[in-house]
Amino acid sequence: MGDLASALQVGLPRRAVIREVGPRDGLQGERPVPPAGRARLIRSLIAAGLSRIEAVSFVSPRHVPAMDGAAAVLAALGDRRGVSIAALVPNLRGAELALASAVDELTVTVSASPTYNEHNVHMSIDASLDAIAAICDLAAAAGQSGPGIPVDAVVSCAFGSPYEGDISPDEIARLAERLRGAGAAAITLADTTGMGTPRVLAEVLDAVPGEVGLHLHETRGTGMLNLYAALTMGVGRFDSSVGGLGGSPFAAGAAGNVATEEVVALLDDLGIETGVSVEDVITAAQLAADLVGHPVPSRLAQAGPRTRLD
Ligand code: MG
Repeated sequence: MGDLASALQVGLPRRAVIREVGPRDGLQGERPVPPAGRARLIRSLIAAGLSRIEAVSFVSPRHVPAMDGAAAVLAALGDRRGVSIAALVPNLRGAELALASAVDELTVTVSASPTYNEHNVHMSIDASLDAIAAICDLAAAAGQSGPGIPVDAVVSCAFGSPYEGDISPDEIARLAERLRGAGAAAITLADTTGMGTPRVLAEVLDAVPGEVGLHLHETRGTGMLNLYAALTMGVGRFDSSVGGLGGSPFAAGAAGNVATEEVVALLDDLGIETGVSVEDVITAAQLAADLVGHPVPSRLAQAGPRTRLD
């Protein structure tokens, strides 16, 4: 390997974990897709090799109509051995419903931006942390004999807020510490409105100790750039959405999670293992486009992989 080719590999992880969030984050802002269609999409993602999938949200259908029927989606999945199915839960009631539906993991969110948190869940950050602590207690007691159900706490607006602008990296670090103290098994930092840049990511990752995952957005054309920068900083866990669907219903212009097929293609190219097939994710992205009734934003889904033997 030449010097430049070797330099490209420095600091990169050997494997990366991808959590597919399309069935939840990708579909929540779309015209509602019936549970059978959502279950079909999840099965096609499982077939592509995705082993961690945020499948549903146990949120009030009055607030997010597209997420109605979460239990029906889970019941329609069939065999899901070897796959961890996560549900996003906004409160204790949602957590109770999710645990009754035998999910493998819970996702909770709190925003680093006080104003965004008020808009998103109508609570102060302190109140959200109290609710998350109660959810973590409930999840820890769930499951008959094992260690309980893990809770991943997603910190939204971790790299900037549309309301407060830059948020101090120390503030993010304090929030992550409080979430771990509340019982969160993992922390995921989300670039909810696409304000992250490699510089901002480096400043935040320098401040936050321990392993974190990233949830990146393409809103300002920096999603994949940030993902590559994060890989060189040792991050090995990413959220992505099939077809690049998704955004935030509470932040104008916050469209576009990084697309799973684009993430997998980049990781493949860098020799980083994911266990996921790009071609099969593209197939799932085509199904997603059929279900939502419009083309998906992913460029790779439209252009195809850079080499294709057919
Ligand atoms: Mg998102």
